[in-house]
Amino acid sequence: MATIEWRSPASEMAVRQFDIAAERLNLDKNVAGRLRRPDRALIVSVPTRMDDGSVHVFTGYRVQHNDVLGPFKGGIRYHPDVNLGEVGALAMWMTWKCSLVGLPLGGGKGGIACDPKKLSRNELQGMTRRYTAEILNFIGPEVDIPAPDMGTNEQVMAWVMDTYSQHKGYAVPGVVTGKPVDIGGSLGRREATGRGVVYMIMEAAKHLELDLAKCSAVVQGFGNVGLVTARELAALGVKVVGASDTSGAVWNAKGLPMAEFVLYKDKNKRVQGFPGAESVPGAELLELKCDILIPAAGEMQITGENAAGLKCKILAEGANGPTTPEADQILKEKGIFIIPDILANAGGVIVSYFEWVQDLQNFFWTEDEIRNRLREILNRAFHEVIGVSRREKVDMRVAALMIGVKRVARAMLWRGLYA
Ligand code: GLU
Repeated sequence: MATIEWRSPASEMAVRQFDIAAERLNLDKNVAGRLRRPDRALIVSVPTRMDDGSVHVFTGYRVQHNDVLGPFKGGIRYHPDVNLGEVGALAMWMTWKCSLVGLPLGGGKGGIACDPKKLSRNELQGMTRRYTAEILNFIGPEVDIPAPDMGTNEQVMAWVMDTYSQHKGYAVPGVVTGKPVDIGGSLGRREATGRGVVYMIMEAAKHLELDLAKCSAVVQGFGNVGLVTARELAALGVKVVGASDTSGAVWNAKGLPMAEFVLYKDKNKRVQGFPGAESVPGAELLELKCDILIPAAGEMQITGENAAGLKCKILAEGANGPTTPEADQILKEKGIFIIPDILANAGGVIVSYFEWVQDLQNFFWTEDEIRNRLREILNRAFHEVIGVSRREKVDMRVAALMIGVKRVARAMLWRGLYA
């Protein structure tokens, strides 16, 4: 992103990906120049009363990349490494993701540099409420609608919704998605991202003529996305042989006994030490032999350094930005089929869109309706990406980005420049 404030490995990567797609599209130079950087960014100090009585000042961000297609949309991340450049990159990816799957939404992202695992419930609540108060004038159902991301969950969304509503003087459920169902959340939102990853793996397997019941999988990251993906894959008969989280990585050649494994993770908050598996060094996990590899943790995990060691047939990106452009090149030569992040993990924001629509209409759908509509949208996008990839002779990532960028660019050209 053009200026020094944005500089970070993630934002450089996001811009490089964008430039590749923009060049293939022969994109209008003026439009490209605008899309390379976000519309707006907010940096806020978040003073928080800690349990020992002291006040700690956290730094929070909300970046709004582009809203030409509709209100900004994207999660809030709590992680020690959060910075402006990373949030900017994540916001840009949200723009392409919403556009690719045809949602009337733009791209945004927020975050606080903190370690949520080290905060008490009280501290987490105080920090969340103050952060919400600080960004209050920049969010809203018609403006910018946050959601969960790494390190945040439905409880955090409930506090955001409550803080916003207290300021307005009435309940505003449409200000965030990923809320508990009791206060206007949607059925199926919690499972949506993982479920979407699995729907896309099912389409990819059909496309590659692979029998999923004979496939094995490895999942990096066992948060909401990784866990649901692993569980649903196992339910389809896929042998999930490896999994990791921040505690370490575990492996069982016969397949992890999923029900026990999920119970263990739930209870102990880690995968390390699970009695039904051996532990393996985290760095080796991605290079384990498997048919399907699912990175569902942070950015830039598959790089020029380790890409050559990957042994999977399908790489399904549950995380945002897990693969660097250098790695993309190597994976292409190896013939690995990539389901790119903006397609593979779009299930989350698709059901967020459903949640927002339900909140605005005060009319709620059944879980079956949600699942069916989610699958329909994702499958349509999958085949659109395959089509562009064939026609333009580009890989799946470039094809997905081309579709996402093109829709946004077209809308910008229609709307023109307000000066
Ligand atoms: N944080 C998720 C993502 O990266 C979901 C965003 C949303 O639901 O708005 O796609």
